[in-house]
Amino acid sequence: MVKRLAAPDSGSAISRQDNSLQVPADPIIPFIEGDGSGPDLWRATRKVLDAAVEKAYHGRRRITWLEVLAGEKAFQQTGQWLPDETIEAISHYLVAIKGPLNTPVGGGIRSINVALRNRLDLFATVRPVRWLPGVPSPVKHPEKVDMVVFRENLEDLYMGLEWERHSPEAAGLRSFFRETLGINIREDAGLGVKVISEYGSKRLIDRALRYAVERGRKSVTLVHKGNIMKYTDGAFRDWGYELAAAGYSEYTIAEKEALEKGNPEGRIIIKDRIGDNMFQQVLLRPEEYDVLACPNLIGDYLSDALAAQVGGLGVAPGANIGERHALFEASHGTAPKYAGLDLINPTSLILSGEMLLRHLGWGEAAALLRQGLEETLRERTMTQDLARQMEGARAVKTSEFAQGWWKTWAEGSFGVAKTWPESGLFLSPLVKILPGSRGGFFVISLLCPEEAEYNYVR
Ligand code: NAP
Repeated sequence: MVKRLAAPDSGSAISRQDNSLQVPADPIIPFIEGDGSGPDLWRATRKVLDAAVEKAYHGRRRITWLEVLAGEKAFQQTGQWLPDETIEAISHYLVAIKGPLNTPVGGGIRSINVALRNRLDLFATVRPVRWLPGVPSPVKHPEKVDMVVFRENLEDLYMGLEWERHSPEAAGLRSFFRETLGINIREDAGLGVKVISEYGSKRLIDRALRYAVERGRKSVTLVHKGNIMKYTDGAFRDWGYELAAAGYSEYTIAEKEALEKGNPEGRIIIKDRIGDNMFQQVLLRPEEYDVLACPNLIGDYLSDALAAQVGGLGVAPGANIGERHALFEASHGTAPKYAGLDLINPTSLILSGEMLLRHLGWGEAAALLRQGLEETLRERTMTQDLARQMEGARAVKTSEFAQGWWKTWAEGSFGVAKTWPESGLFLSPLVKILPGSRGGFFVISLLCPEEAEYNYVR
């Protein structure tokens, strides 16, 4: 049971049985509002998620949100940046969502995000990167980008094992290197330790492989810097090939073998790429890459660089996944200069909400949410960060953007229908068909605008 945090009056807890998630019709889902622009982001996200669930299930399913504290709000109310009851609530309810959190300066905690990942053993960051039609991008063919980055979250250079140059620990390490290994390190050097284990690497790569098999993806690329860091990144690569051969042999084939013998069965190709090469590969030939498995540092850089290719962090969703828990979050920071101005782009957090809905198995609501977004963008209605990059786009506030989103599913469709054929075709006063941007079309029944049915047909 959750200690010290009152359970909500309604809703039921998600549970696990035989390694699978048991989701009730009224799951309790903890949320962390976030610092800076977090409250604006969360307000918009909650509204869109609730509307999508309502539109998809007509009251048969609904989420009971439970606020848990972290960051500045937690510090103001409890004196702690990350109260124990927040960890206990997420541990108990299994699935949660969060806005961005500031990294406290001199606050006795290195990073609340890192602490959350460590305490909940959220070992994988998952970042799907796919272009949304209408979003301005710096590359010529953003539509060629369709990758999912699995980044190891707990090891590598992010373990906090580093010491300031004049500290006794750094001095002790320097003397160990000098006396035991015969290596001289400059007196003015700070020191850090890179840790990559077989256990940590294999459980991350296993997630990426399993995802590729389940979703019918074409390749899994192990990204590393093993030419230089042989026993850490190089080992990560070797363990990846080892795991694919041992645990997924019927589904996978190593790239070298596929090049020599062909791949007539269409197995998932296991590739590896050195990190610096990978950065140019994803720019030059993005269509050749699909699922990526990366150690922490390279994965961190690469996932942001990929997000830039499809329009930036403002539109890139993410999740932190463990064996038991999943915490969905925006991929950007708190954007403090926009705090309270109702100007921030909520797309990243809303699409993280889409990932959450899919994680619950609520695919209908998730599909509605994405289609609503595609429609809203097709109307060239966007927040200022995107609108300023696009001629003819209409810049709206965060709250208006969210409103337009769910209005697309219902009464708003009356308005756009007037501009046919651009916005769709009225078959009768009661049914409207809108072309979808991914080859399908939307059928909207307008019997009663408040209760409009909305379906997507491929
Ligand atoms: P940031 O908050 O991501 O913002 C940097 C800039 O990116 C913003 O000024 C804005 O650019 C643009 N931006 C980011 N998100 C946007 C959105 N949703 N809509 C529109 N524009 C957006 O990065 P930061 O300034 O480096 O970090 C601020 C704080 O956030 C730090 O304390 C950092 O530690 C924390 N942080 C938290 C997380 C997390 O919680 N997961 C992640 C990263 C950083 P323009 O100024 O060009 O408009």
